[in-house]
Amino acid sequence: MYDVCIIGAGVSGASLALNVSEKLKVCLVERKKPFEIGYKVCGDAVQGHWVDKWVKPNLERMNVILQLVKELRIEIPGETLRGKVKGYMIDRYRFGRRLFELALDKGCEYIMGSAKPVFKGGKVDHIKVNKGKVKAKIYVDASGVSAVLRRHFLLNKPEMFTICYREIIKKPVGIEWNYWYSYIPRKNLGYWVFPEGEKLNVGVGTHLKSGLHVKGRLKLFLSKFKKSKGLNGKVLESGWGLVPRYKPIKLARGNIAAIGDAGFTVNPIHASGIGPSIYTANLLSKHLLSEFKAESFNRDYWERIGRKYLYFYLLLKTAEKTALWRKFFKEMFKRYFKV
Ligand SMILES: Cc1cc2nc3c(=O)[nH]c(=O)nc-3n(C[C@H](O)[C@H](O)[C@H](O)COP(=O)(O)OP(=O)(O)OC[C@H]3O[C@@H](n4cnc5c(N)ncnc54)[C@H](O)[C@@H]3O)c2cc1C
Repeated sequence: MYDVCIIGAGVSGASLALNVSEKLKVCLVERKKPFEIGYKVCGDAVQGHWVDKWVKPNLERMNVILQLVKELRIEIPGETLRGKVKGYMIDRYRFGRRLFELALDKGCEYIMGSAKPVFKGGKVDHIKVNKGKVKAKIYVDASGVSAVLRRHFLLNKPEMFTICYREIIKKPVGIEWNYWYSYIPRKNLGYWVFPEGEKLNVGVGTHLKSGLHVKGRLKLFLSKFKKSKGLNGKVLESGWGLVPRYKPIKLARGNIAAIGDAGFTVNPIHASGIGPSIYTANLLSKHLLSEFKAESFNRDYWERIGRKYLYFYLLLKTAEKTALWRKFFKEMFKRYFKV
């Protein structure tokens, strides 16, 4: 019997395992093969205020920083907004792997396989993995958008997600790019270009429910966008991913707690998810290391993040229904750095 069974060794699950494995008996169930752990299609951008405080050892000691970023530009029709940031572009694979390896060093047990929960009386009774059974006092859903446990009390629906296509390209000769750039031509479509040393991380995203052939259209949109910016560098890697864009939910019920993407902790406005994943992992670890009670964890989350994210979510939904979305983006921009 484990104290905690964590499903998913992404940034949220591995961070939690790292924080609690010294004091508790923990297992981390991950369906990926060991060498795949750490890989994620991502924009690789993270704001300093999340990681400087909550990641130990820090990013510099982990040797995962690709580039420091000090400026952000958001282009909306007719206007470019500029702001200052303290941001990092990180080697996402190396970062994910380091968190995972450090968690193992602290004594966490890794079980390779796809987790299937078995419920009894509204609670998780055990997890089936491969042909075995895993039992724990608390089960943590850190399985990202799969939401293996959370989906038993809140189902995934297409309108809760943004679909993204992302490429890592070689930076074309003569192009200088040292800031985070987003282009929002209309309310349900957005592009980004983030610098990674000699490479650029370029992507596009739209609502998952945006109709038929959405994947084909997004690829075409990105190719036209790159052409318009002169970003004709060789494509080194590409992939698809879903980003949750939903209001904050109660993260814990009975003997289950959800963190990271499984718990819709992504910032509803600008879609940063790495920071909130690490933050909720830290918050949960404090609760697990004292006496875990679902209600007090929910309350804590609500007071620290949930209330603020609900406000942003409602603002976003209202803006999407009106012609005022550009005004909204300007308002959002003023708050962007503090979120
Ligand atoms: C295209 C794209 C761009 C993004 N850009 C940024 C960005 O620039 N900045 C930012 O902050 N955020 C960004 N995000 C969001 C960020 O990547 C996520 O919020 C963050 O990685 C969530 O971490 P997680 O640990 O919750 O989930 P994940 O990293 O998805 O990890 C979940 C893990 O659970 C495992 N798993 C799933 N089901 C099971 C199962 N049944 N059994 C066992 N294991 C299972 C998976 O294999 C996976 O390893 C982006 C996301 C996408 C898709």
